[in-house]
Amino acid sequence: MDGTVILKPGREKPVLNRHPWVFSGAIRRIEGDVEDGDLVRVADSRSQYLATGYLNRRSQIVVRLLTWHPEEEIDDSFWRRRLARAVEGRVRLAEFPATNAYRLVHAEADGLPGLIVDRYGDWLVVQCLTLGMARRRDQIVSILASSADAPRGIYARDDADVRRKEGLALETGLLWGEEPPDLLEIVEDGHRFLVDVRAGHKTGFYLDQRDNRRKTSTLCGSAEVLDVFAYTGGFAVYAGQAGAHSVVNLDTSVEALTLAEKNLALNGCKPQELIAGDAFQILRDYRDQGRGFDVVILDPPKFAASRAQVVGASRGYKDINLLALQLLRPGGYLVTFSCSGLVSADLFQKIVFGASVDAGRDVQVLERLAQGSDHPVLLTFPESAYLKGLICRVW
Ligand code: SAH
Repeated sequence: MDGTVILKPGREKPVLNRHPWVFSGAIRRIEGDVEDGDLVRVADSRSQYLATGYLNRRSQIVVRLLTWHPEEEIDDSFWRRRLARAVEGRVRLAEFPATNAYRLVHAEADGLPGLIVDRYGDWLVVQCLTLGMARRRDQIVSILASSADAPRGIYARDDADVRRKEGLALETGLLWGEEPPDLLEIVEDGHRFLVDVRAGHKTGFYLDQRDNRRKTSTLCGSAEVLDVFAYTGGFAVYAGQAGAHSVVNLDTSVEALTLAEKNLALNGCKPQELIAGDAFQILRDYRDQGRGFDVVILDPPKFAASRAQVVGASRGYKDINLLALQLLRPGGYLVTFSCSGLVSADLFQKIVFGASVDAGRDVQVLERLAQGSDHPVLLTFPESAYLKGLICRVW
């Protein structure tokens, strides 16, 4: 390791608090002959060692930290130990045969900045979101391929937009072993789903919502359910199997709804309505038509991708929640989410509060929801908490 990143005076606090990111604004100078992607030491303004990480000057986050121990080598054994720790954290899920799809590595929150690994049955899907991780992808893949419960294949979904901020191209493809089938069948809580790991959203499925699908299904018996951002029918399959009277699935994506229909059939659910279109418009139409539902599920895409978008995103969340509240029968349930990390749980609750006041409805919070435990939150990295939700009773 040849390089040292020297921080400006007084800028060492986040590093001492083990936050894994060093922003460009905190850096006084970079010493040594180092290339982007290389390992560097980070030191305070008096050159005292603070941590070790990998460098990328092209990103706002110039260093992602890997260890705070000067003597810890970042060698093959380091990556093996970190991966083993992440896998061990999912042992309970792995032992539960009714679920064979979950996140194995949740990036910074698993001490592996920039690395996502999702398990879909016998396949692993890997995402390297940073240059430092992309450089080490082969090494990570060979460790994953040689693990005790080796997968049949490892597929790269390196097509996430955030890679552009790191100066990386977008690409996908097989990295090791066998090609996954076009539609890979997984089991989640005993429910069967077909997943398109090549082109589906994220790495193919919204694994982070598993616990929330289960909780929501308990509200759906005999209910008329509206699943507003339905994707491939995650919530709808659970609702159908829980004995919902009917489910309307809304999504802009025709491909997603086509797959939702297959997933419903695969689980022996009775047919459900599948409506392709813009949720904001369709909910407005339903309201104007005086339609009513017992359960409305709102799981929109990330509305805020940057701080500058938070105000607009808040407006979007408020609008959609207001419309949902207007469609709920008295005593009905609103299950509402935000996966924007920049919208805190507190702000989200305030937004739903604003919608409740405008709708003139009494809204009780019955439960606060979050991402599943295979998407852990590292205390020193609060940014790893991104999914928040509320189960509300509406009068
Ligand atoms: N609840 C799903 C995941 C939802 S992801 C699950 O558990 O699997 C968000 C979905 O919203 C995506 O499928 C996307 O196609 C859809 N979407 C995005 N904008 C939309 C809009 N304006 N109207 C309807 N659907 C939209």
